[in-house]
Amino acid sequence: MGEIMRLSRYFMPTLRENPAEAQIVSHRLMLRAGMIRQSSAGIYSWLPLGFRVLKKIENIVREEQDAAGCQELLMPTIQPADLWRESGRYDDYGKEMLRITDRHDRDMLFGPTNEELITDIFRNSVKSYRDLPRLLYHIQWKFRDEVRPRFGIMRGREFLMKDSYSFDLDYEGARRAYNKMFVAYLRTFARMGLKAIPMAADTGPIGGDLSHEFIILADTGESEVFCHADYLDFDPMMSGVDYEDDLQPVVDEWTRLYAATDEMHDPVAFAEQVPEDKALHTRGIEVGHIFYFGAKYSEAMGATVQQADGTEVPVEMGSYGIGVSRLVGAIIEASHDDAGIIWPEAVAPFRVGLINLKVDDSATRETCERLYAELSAKGMDVLYDDTDVRAGVKFATSELIGTPWQLVVGPRGVASGLVELKSRDGDVNEEISIDAAVTRVSG
Ligand code: ATP
Ligand code: MG
Repeated sequence: MGEIMRLSRYFMPTLRENPAEAQIVSHRLMLRAGMIRQSSAGIYSWLPLGFRVLKKIENIVREEQDAAGCQELLMPTIQPADLWRESGRYDDYGKEMLRITDRHDRDMLFGPTNEELITDIFRNSVKSYRDLPRLLYHIQWKFRDEVRPRFGIMRGREFLMKDSYSFDLDYEGARRAYNKMFVAYLRTFARMGLKAIPMAADTGPIGGDLSHEFIILADTGESEVFCHADYLDFDPMMSGVDYEDDLQPVVDEWTRLYAATDEMHDPVAFAEQVPEDKALHTRGIEVGHIFYFGAKYSEAMGATVQQADGTEVPVEMGSYGIGVSRLVGAIIEASHDDAGIIWPEAVAPFRVGLINLKVDDSATRETCERLYAELSAKGMDVLYDDTDVRAGVKFATSELIGTPWQLVVGPRGVASGLVELKSRDGDVNEEISIDAAVTRVSG
């Protein structure tokens, strides 16, 4: 069954005016559509409409992680400082870390990421090469006391992240895990209607070529990027993938052309490898980051396994993040017009906006009731605008919140058995019979 919401009872505090504090369109639209409200700098509440989108995105991320053989668990938000002293990051992390003292004067912290905690879990329970490989993830709130929280949930202090961790016996195994996540990321972002480009990213002291940031091109993005335009037409493997196959050819194909963030940019190579008419120098939003770091944490924290010959080696690790809450903003940056948000169907808070143009007319009301009963029986999520306001206001609200389909029901159409069907992207705008409308929007 689909979900039916009556707008007259739905908590969706929309704003007519553009909020002065919002500098970019996604932040503006999220506030105006009543999706989020700030509670303090970089910290937001997710109101029902925003929460629905967040959950849809989270679910796509989850489905693709599961499909890649990654297993979900849930680690806490609050971590003991001692684990971070072991890895050496307690001091390195600096002011971005929110440090907390409990009533017994123990040093705790609100986790900005989970490498230490997952390594601790691993070392306490895995002892043998036979227990490898392992791929684990969770979707949990993080806190980073960013110097400049801005752009709403795009650079928040509290934000929702999917973070996965891989454990392998050797480099080849770690590379297989990396490739799985690489492909899972391509599919994850494509399912949300996004074109994410994997770009070479800094590996720091670890070196090697196993670090990619997945970037959505957008003028409002915080990263400066350089890449070959052909990436925008590459195949994100939506027709299916077998994660037991060798995925190296896919990764090779996706890393064949030039793509780098400014930290890794090499102007000479860029000019040599990319013809001028294909050269993109623009800005982008980092929605994901995958990283192989070998034995960095396992060595420092003593996470070793016994090999077949009886010797102990530190386990090879990688970590793989997706900015789940940031994606809500990134999708809006990529898909909107002057009137509001244009949700891709997969992440839309509601699939259908049902608009009653004359709530005091009984024939119109009956048609609406019938439509939403049938749509809900077909599993469609419908937001039913049953409020007593002018048609213009209803259309404005509907376009602002951006449901993919709009069904407009008024007395004149109802008299001849017709309703108006519009798609938010502007491709469809026609009068059709009520039955045909149900079939079309649920197709
Ligand atoms: P950035 O360079 O944007 O600060 P990062 O490299 O520090 O990000 P990672 O540690 O790689 O971030 O985190 C994984 C993902 O979490 C990022 O790709 C991004 O999508 C998301 N993310 C990171 N910081 C924030 C934040 N302050 N607000 C919202 N999402 C964030
Ligand atoms: Mg990063």
